[in-house]
Amino acid sequence: MEIITRQANANRAAEHWALNYADDLGLSNDPFLIGPGEDTDSPAGIHKRLVALGPTPKPADIDNIIGNKSWTTGQLQCDECKRPAKATVEIGGQVHEDQQSSTLCVRCIRKALALLEATL
Ligand SMILES: [Zn+2]
Repeated sequence: MEIITRQANANRAAEHWALNYADDLGLSNDPFLIGPGEDTDSPAGIHKRLVALGPTPKPADIDNIIGNKSWTTGQLQCDECKRPAKATVEIGGQVHEDQQSSTLCVRCIRKALALLEATL
């Protein structure tokens, strides 16, 4: 069970980028090592720029490097009511790693709690 916010997504962006692109790069020991003059828009170059932002980057900086907001807004839509939310909780798995998990907003959590308590 994990809380998801734009900031939490931003904090994990470099790590998740590495996980997503490690295999695709097909390089050896350090697939994210790029030299001077190499393409900074390649997966390796983008990873290096994400890491350079530090452990708590501004979500907007992540968006600018990647070119869209999908990496900072991922899982900020409730699986129950389908509405966007500023914060959600993922239940049933690790963030971004378990297809069986559900992401719920506070309104739906409260509703579920009320329904559950009414049956006890
Ligand atoms: Zn909801």
